[in-house]
Amino acid sequence: MRRDVSSELIEKLDIEKVSELLDIPEHRITGAIQRKTLQYVRGRHDFFRFDKPISGIEAGTCIFLEPFDVVRGFPKIPRALMLHPSVAAHFSTCEKVAVEEKMNGYNVRVALINDELAGITRGGFVCPYTTEKAIELVGREFFSEHPDLVLCGEMVGPDSPYVPKSIYDIESLEFFVFDIRDKLTGKPMPVMKRREISDEYGLRSVRFFGEYEVEKADIEIANIIRGFGTSLNEGVVIKDPEMVLPPVKYTSSMSNCADLRYAFEFYNDYGRDFFFPRVCREAFQSVEWNENEEGQKERCRRFGESILLPMIKTIRKKKEDGRITETVQIRVRNLKTMQEFEDHLRLLGVDAIFDEPENTGDGYIVKIHKKYHSTSDKTESILRGELWS
Ligand code: ATP
Ligand code: MG
Repeated sequence: MRRDVSSELIEKLDIEKVSELLDIPEHRITGAIQRKTLQYVRGRHDFFRFDKPISGIEAGTCIFLEPFDVVRGFPKIPRALMLHPSVAAHFSTCEKVAVEEKMNGYNVRVALINDELAGITRGGFVCPYTTEKAIELVGREFFSEHPDLVLCGEMVGPDSPYVPKSIYDIESLEFFVFDIRDKLTGKPMPVMKRREISDEYGLRSVRFFGEYEVEKADIEIANIIRGFGTSLNEGVVIKDPEMVLPPVKYTSSMSNCADLRYAFEFYNDYGRDFFFPRVCREAFQSVEWNENEEGQKERCRRFGESILLPMIKTIRKKKEDGRITETVQIRVRNLKTMQEFEDHLRLLGVDAIFDEPENTGDGYIVKIHKKYHSTSDKTESILRGELWS
C-alpha cells in the first residue's frame, strides 16, 4: 500500500525534540504537517517552515534537518493608529521608548546554518539571492563569535526582487540591522547593546532618532514623521529599550499613499487587502493631528489620487499592449544565483519572465517581469464587456 505523504514527512522530523525545544505538544506538530501548516522544503538546505503560527511559534520559523537547527520567525509588529494613547498604554511600564526608523524593504534573517550563511525571508524561505547578498554585505565575522544569534534586518534598495525602493540613496542593496535575536528562542537584545555590537562588526543599523519619555514620545514622533515631508520614508518603530515589551509601528501618510499606488496598479491582486486598513490609518491620523479643513482636503486628494490614477493607468495599458507586469531587477555575482532564484520564485508561485542577463564586469543585472494574472484577466474581461458580478 502507498504510504501517505505526510507520514513520510513526519518521519523526517524528530518530533519529540521539536516538541520539547519549542514547547508544542507532539500531536500539534504532526497535525500541522498533515494540514501543511508545517511544510517541508527541499533545496540546498532541507527544512520545515511554519506557514502559519502554531502554539505561539511565529509563522516563518524554520527547522533545519541536517544538522538540526531552529531559526525562530520574526514576530508581527502591532501598529498604533492613535500615537498618544497607544504609546502611553502599551509602554506604561517603561520610562522611555527608543525610536528607530522603519525602513521599507524586505525582512531578512541572516543566520549560520550548517556552517554556511543563509538569508531567510519573512515567510521562512532560504532565498538564494538574499543569501548571496548576505554573504557579501554581512559576512561571517559576527557569526564566528555568535553562532547562536540571528541578525534581523531590512534589505533595502533598488536591486530588490521583492520591495524595490529608490528612496534612500542606495546604489544596489543594503542590509540594515534592527534586531539581534537568539536563534532558538527568538529573545531580542536590548536596543543600545544591539546597536553597539552591530557597529563593532561594521554592520549598518537602521536610523536611531532618540530615546524619549513615554508621555512625550507622541510629540517627538509626530515631528519625525512630519519632518519626512514629502519624502517616502515609511515611518518609525517604537521600542522598549530593553526589548521586553514588543515594539509598535507607526507610518506616514506619504508612504501609505505610495503603497496604495502600488496596490492599485495591480488592483485585483492587492487592492482589497491594502485599501481598508489604510483608510483607517489616514482618518485617525487626521483627527489626532487636528487637521484643518484645508489639510483634510489635501489628504483626501492625495489618498484618492493614489488609488485611482494607477488603476486608470493599468486599464489603459491593458487596452494598449495587454501586459500587466511589474519589473524588478537583481544584481548577481554569478549566474548560478540567478538560476537558483528563478527556481525560488517558482517555488513561491510567482510567474515571472527573466530577461537576458546584462554583464556589468563584476557581475550581472537581470531584469525580471512579474506577471499579475488576476489584474490582467479581470481588466481584459471587463474591457471585453463582461459584467461585474
Ligand atoms: P507585520 O507582520 O509585523 O505586521 P508587515 O509584513 O505588515 O509586518 P510592515 O508593516 O512592513 O510589515 O512592518 C513590520 C516590518 O517592518 C518588520 O517585519 C521589519 O521587516 C520592518 N522594519 C523596518 N524597520 C524596522 C525597525 N527599525 N525595527 C523593526 N522592524 C523594522
Ligand atoms: Mg515592510
